[in-house]
Amino acid sequence: MALFGLAFGSFLNVCIARLPRGESIISPRSHCPKCNRPLRWYDNIPVLSFLLLRGRCRNCRAPISLIYPAVELLTTAVLVVAFARYRLSPEFIKHSVLGMLLIVLVFTDLTHRRIPHPVTLLGMALGLLLSLIIPVDSRPVDWILQRLGSELSFPFSSLVASLAGAAVGGGIFYAVAEVFFRLTGKEGLGFGDVMLMLMVGTFLGVPLTLLTILLGSILGTLVAVPLELLSSRFRHHPWPFGTFLGLAAIYASLGGQPLLEAYLRWAGLAG
Ligand SMILES: [Zn+2]
Repeated sequence: MALFGLAFGSFLNVCIARLPRGESIISPRSHCPKCNRPLRWYDNIPVLSFLLLRGRCRNCRAPISLIYPAVELLTTAVLVVAFARYRLSPEFIKHSVLGMLLIVLVFTDLTHRRIPHPVTLLGMALGLLLSLIIPVDSRPVDWILQRLGSELSFPFSSLVASLAGAAVGGGIFYAVAEVFFRLTGKEGLGFGDVMLMLMVGTFLGVPLTLLTILLGSILGTLVAVPLELLSSRFRHHPWPFGTFLGLAAIYASLGGQPLLEAYLRWAGLAG
């Protein structure tokens, strides 16, 4: 699974480098972005080549971004954790697909301040489709339907839960973006963040989507505030919120359930 992770991570690197510029992810072959020399196969081995080349192009010695091995290692971590938890099951497919979509968006937002629509649209379609096979947490939807004297059974309950997750995740971000724009006349949140949360909502449903927003906001604050205060380089830095939200969503997807249940028990909302 770790080898699969490295191979998929290598492909995700191609997506991250090319999708924000609207380039094809199939051709041309991988090349050094500085001197354009095509990479030999032995210079294109995930993580290992980076170490052997000591982070520099063999031809022009231009530094290779640390993002390449980081993406490969993060993809490996996602696949290994998902496999340890779910073995080879539909759940494994769902959590590793979401993880890999999120890794692309985490890094396109970090490096290009872009959250490409082809990725989020594909993700939304997959999230809705997978909700018909793997149940999405439908407790808030069930609760509302119960009050209305009605109920839904699987897979419709799961599909509605997936749509509700998208509506809540995307809706909160759309509302915040709109209010911020009205108040300041500046764009604080891009539409990409709305699309990202629509996608996350379809996979995770309402409760874990709310957890994602909470953890992403805390993570962003913990990283951005100290850096803005301590370093003049980061004053008025355009922070990529999608990067923090994406990392939070990866955590929510693979490890957020116990945290969520502990909170619900503490708040007396469990059951
Ligand atoms: Zn080069």
